[in-house]
Amino acid sequence: MMKTLLIIIDGMDDEPIPALGNLTPDSYANMPALKHMHSMGKVSYQYTIPDGCEPATDVAMRSILGLDIKDGAFGCRSWLEALGAGIDVNPGDLCMRCNLITHNNGIIVSHNGSNPPENECKTIIDELNDHFAKDNLTFHCCNSFRNILVIKDNCSSVSATAPHTLIGSPVDMLNLKSDNHLLEHKLNDCIVKSRSILSSHTANGISLWSPGRPTRFTRKLSGAVIAGVNVVKGIGIATGMSVMDVPGATGDENTDYTAKYRAATDALKHEDFVILHIEAPDEAAHQRNWMKKVYILEQIDRYILMPLLHTDGPIHIIVQADHATSSLTGQHMASPVRVINYFKSN
Ligand SMILES: [Zn+2]
Repeated sequence: MMKTLLIIIDGMDDEPIPALGNLTPDSYANMPALKHMHSMGKVSYQYTIPDGCEPATDVAMRSILGLDIKDGAFGCRSWLEALGAGIDVNPGDLCMRCNLITHNNGIIVSHNGSNPPENECKTIIDELNDHFAKDNLTFHCCNSFRNILVIKDNCSSVSATAPHTLIGSPVDMLNLKSDNHLLEHKLNDCIVKSRSILSSHTANGISLWSPGRPTRFTRKLSGAVIAGVNVVKGIGIATGMSVMDVPGATGDENTDYTAKYRAATDALKHEDFVILHIEAPDEAAHQRNWMKKVYILEQIDRYILMPLLHTDGPIHIIVQADHATSSLTGQHMASPVRVINYFKSN
């Protein structure tokens, strides 16, 4: 049987960009390996975001993998991230994503706290725990701007806006709502007070969003997952796949593409199905930086796709985005994504 490598290039698809001669970043970029796969393979377009669902990686990945969208399609993303990060969560707990953000004069300027280094993220999470780790709240550092808050034994519902949709908006938009007024007050207090506690850092605030709870995935998959971001690792763990730790796989533009390529080809030696997820293009699009997105896509072509074309042995390679991300608006899109199926015969 031919082995399958599913390469998810997060947010690769985009809108036509006037500054790129009305081309999308992936068609503007110099990507000879992808072009070869496109012209020699089978190309289709796939709606990865079911009606009524948010265009987001967790939803899109579950849709691509054929997992049950009805059970747990909503409200488990931050739990998947906690799972991917190895954080213990009990069935009655509520998880929230805790982004480090940057604001300036009351306006949100970065949803990722201008990407602080690992050691600074740890310091920041320690400071947050010093002030707020009581009443069942614990902040967990996940070594990047993407962190997790676990609220013990809480069955309330919470709604909050994703910070990557709020760049350029006032910080008040970070305030969340809950049917539990005490919890709403407590969490908004953390969000507001974090801005004075963290005032000496570039990442000078937090956003709490994406509430999630433990969910059981009925469908299991076999194979390996290579990813820099915890949400994709979590989907791997929740479906029974083996999740490979790749040093240098960071989920941003500094990720080590060659290490990821090597991990994928190693995994294919003993697994029939391997998922390789690359986050960086989505992050560049959130920053509305289409030239950075072009550069990242060219790096992926050069250090992952081209070497794959030159490996030995047959592989069924699938290359696609999970969802599109507009470099003009910085928002995820629910439009169909291009799927390239390429059968490498030797
Ligand atoms: Zn995104």
